[in-house]
Amino acid sequence: QRQKRIRNFCIIAHIDHGKSTLADRLLEKTGVLSARELDDQVLDTMELERERGITIKAQAVRMPYRAKDGEEYELNLIDTPGHVDFSYEVSRSLAACEGAILVVDASQGIEAQTLANVYMALEHDLEIVPVINKIDLPSARPEEVRQEIEDVIGLDASYAPLVSAKTGVGIEDVLEAVVEHIPPPVGDETAPLKALIFDSYYDSYKGAISFVRIMEGSVKEGLDIRMMSSGREYPVTEVGVFRPGLTPIGTLAAGDVGYVAASIKNVADTRVGDTITAVENPAAEPLPGYKKVNPMVYCGIYPADGADYEDLRDAMEKLQLNDASLMYEPEVSTALGFGFRCGFLGLLHMEIIQERLEREFDLDLVTTAPSVVYKVIRTNGEMVLIDNPANLPNPAEIEHMEEPMVRAEIMAPPDSVGTIMELCQQKRGIYEDMTYIETNRVTIRYRMPLNEIIYDFFDSLKSRTKGYASFDYELIGYERSELVKLDILLNGEICDALSIIVHKDRAYPRGRAIAEKLKDVIPRQMFEIPIQAAVGGKIIARETVKAMRKDVLAKCYGGDITRKKKLLEKQKEGKKRMRQVGTVQIPSEAFMSVLKMD
Ligand code: GDP
Ligand code: MG
Repeated sequence: QRQKRIRNFCIIAHIDHGKSTLADRLLEKTGVLSARELDDQVLDTMELERERGITIKAQAVRMPYRAKDGEEYELNLIDTPGHVDFSYEVSRSLAACEGAILVVDASQGIEAQTLANVYMALEHDLEIVPVINKIDLPSARPEEVRQEIEDVIGLDASYAPLVSAKTGVGIEDVLEAVVEHIPPPVGDETAPLKALIFDSYYDSYKGAISFVRIMEGSVKEGLDIRMMSSGREYPVTEVGVFRPGLTPIGTLAAGDVGYVAASIKNVADTRVGDTITAVENPAAEPLPGYKKVNPMVYCGIYPADGADYEDLRDAMEKLQLNDASLMYEPEVSTALGFGFRCGFLGLLHMEIIQERLEREFDLDLVTTAPSVVYKVIRTNGEMVLIDNPANLPNPAEIEHMEEPMVRAEIMAPPDSVGTIMELCQQKRGIYEDMTYIETNRVTIRYRMPLNEIIYDFFDSLKSRTKGYASFDYELIGYERSELVKLDILLNGEICDALSIIVHKDRAYPRGRAIAEKLKDVIPRQMFEIPIQAAVGGKIIARETVKAMRKDVLAKCYGGDITRKKKLLEKQKEGKKRMRQVGTVQIPSEAFMSVLKMD
């Protein structure tokens, strides 16, 4: 019957192994898009995604395919975000599929995210079809990689197609393998409706659009639907599939992948992982696995020019329309004035939002150092969550604090084990274990504070291993830790936007490093500026920015008028990117740059 000719699958891969390129090839081969239309990777829609070469949001496309058995199949390719920040979205996309294509680079072999993705796919009982990509590279070693897939993952890779997504070799084999090895969906079309939302986005004409996999029952235009997490109800205005544009088809039934539009004003009402059911004859239980995602990383975002506050708020509102996982609320800083405290899924998510605010909305921003969420247990037994160091209670009121921990999994060549362990130790990592995958690769596991990896861990790892290490992590919970607030005083006044929470053993070196860094980035002013680092009121480091020499100004008077003009212009330019904090001028970049250390 109908379901027999449907295949729902996604592509999983370590970053850069060729997931997007392969997806493009599949679209081309099935005639969904011509080669000309494909000069841009279609599944990576946002400009930023293309530039960074990563997929941020999941998408889905329906491809018709006449297989060698003569049957016409309907292949639904669901693209998954390629970054740990979005692992919940990935898990919901996987739940919408019966199988996954595992792309492995024929010269790189298996890497950290390859394994992490495979484990996730196996957790969802997906059938995994291995594909060995980039066989056109001179450094390709396809047969070794085939063996590696069998030995390390335990998959049957004997039939794994050898592919070059770049030149187009082997693409048909991939499509055949999908048809042959991935099971068709099952699900009762006459049962009450259960549709899994695996992604959503905002369309200015149609409202929030839910990308769904129908698990049971069917949905059609005009049906009244209910979001099971919120109980909200809407009449369906459009039902369709992606080809890859929105194409209305009237009905979707069990086993199908497509979209549902229902004049929903906000993506926050189309939550990833939620179940859509019908108002009449509703499902008794939602689909398992729904959770409300909580931000892991917070920072303050302020307009560089206070006058742009309203513009920043408008921009935030617009971005949130499309990104339900972006949180923000107004915040006031003594140093920076009015701005927003923003919550993100991870550092990459944070960087993406900052970049979009600056690029798409043309805003100049001051961003404070990212912070994780700490648990503070007060002496009166009360527990508070702190995402802004400035809000940390008085030390006398704190019984103890807890910080979020992750399990970090690093894959690297054996000769870099020493330098990796050194780095992890520096970042307060606790060694767990190490396993050899092949003679040329080890996996090292550490338990680490999230607070230590959000700044520059990955960059350090890359530079120490000349780019050979790959890295993945998962949150494992909170642990008690000796944490203190490190304050920075400028000209004797605490600058709240520069405060950070650090482990007590790191406060001293960190305080010194920040003071030194600030001394370099704060330009000389009319008076001497002491820069101090303090913990609990005790000064632990001090630097001084000397006063400007008088003769610099003297040169402005009289003499060469064009020279004077130039000097003034330069000052004006400089001013644009300066923030007045109390009596001191600080360049906007200082707030972030102080944290990018060593
Ligand atoms: P993703 O991060 O897994 O989506 O990887 P992409 O599809 O963006 O590919 C990463 C890089 O590898 C890009 O520069 C691609 O052009 C390149 N690439 C992808 N497939 C092949 C291939 O078969 N051969 C070669 N030589 N390069 C490829
Ligand atoms: Mg990609």
